[in-house]
Amino acid sequence: KNLKKYFPIKGGVLKRTVGHVKAVDDITLSIIRGETLGVVGESGSGKSTLGRVILRLMEPTEGQILFENEDISRLSNRQLRPFRKDMQIVFQDPFASLNPKMNVQELIEEPLLVQTSLNKNERREKAISLLEKVGLRPDSRLKYPHEFSGGQRQRISIARALALNPKFIICDEPVSALDVSIQAQVLNLMADLQDEFNLTYLFIAHDLSVVKHISDRVAVMYLGRIAEIAPKKNLYETPLHPYTEALLSAVPSTDVLNKREKIILKGDLPSPSNPPSGCAFRTRCPKAHERCALERPELINVSEGHYVACHLYEQ
Ligand code: SF4
Ligand code: MG
Repeated sequence: KNLKKYFPIKGGVLKRTVGHVKAVDDITLSIIRGETLGVVGESGSGKSTLGRVILRLMEPTEGQILFENEDISRLSNRQLRPFRKDMQIVFQDPFASLNPKMNVQELIEEPLLVQTSLNKNERREKAISLLEKVGLRPDSRLKYPHEFSGGQRQRISIARALALNPKFIICDEPVSALDVSIQAQVLNLMADLQDEFNLTYLFIAHDLSVVKHISDRVAVMYLGRIAEIAPKKNLYETPLHPYTEALLSAVPSTDVLNKREKIILKGDLPSPSNPPSGCAFRTRCPKAHERCALERPELINVSEGHYVACHLYEQ
């Protein structure tokens, strides 16, 4: 609720705070048990920061994080411990996130050692069963991360994330570093595991094609704010925000009748430390008008579950 994460910018010889990067700027959203909420945006849109703040891997500047109605936004590390096992994260780069000096058994065991009282045999059994769940052979237990391909390493990260039977997993671009041919396999695996273990996902991606199949709803972020959030069908079939339209026009479509004309956005993402006045998207928006520089559009409800922040849809 009203979540903000501002990073101070230090400047001058005295290294005083001269401004802020508003990485997450007043975001309110809910994630429904069992669903996948896709979060899409360019790099610099704040989506990874949002994920880390929700998990309290970074402190929020303002706002609340409610997990099963409990406010976890101000809990100490010790108070957070019982929640930690319920919430996990899978990172983009499994090579960077897996300790190269630990073998697969040790990698999967680590969270079990910290959070459970399982004995050595039980931990071994658990690791073997998790490896089977993610489609790896039990004897890969004794190998090290560098002995695996990118897709296999991501399977190891997923097994590790599942070790404590979490309820909620943030998937931070888990397939972006993988070959396109491998992406679908890992996405299918994640969808199967979601069904099997009743998982809830927040699935972060930088384009709309990756989250298309796995998401139930999709949120589009731009410079720390939500531009549009909607059930998947609405977002892909009747996008409202000009930014969503542009992102969608870049998704390769196999549907000949439904081909969209590619919208090329002018310019780059403006600096999050100095966003444009009014609507942050106005410097690149093909539909920008006078009012867009003056007033910031709020997220408004246009139909069941469909919200957009754009002056074009205000009464
Ligand atoms: Fe474009 Fe204006 Fe809508 Fe922003 S508010 S998306 S600039 S039309
Ligand atoms: Mg990121």
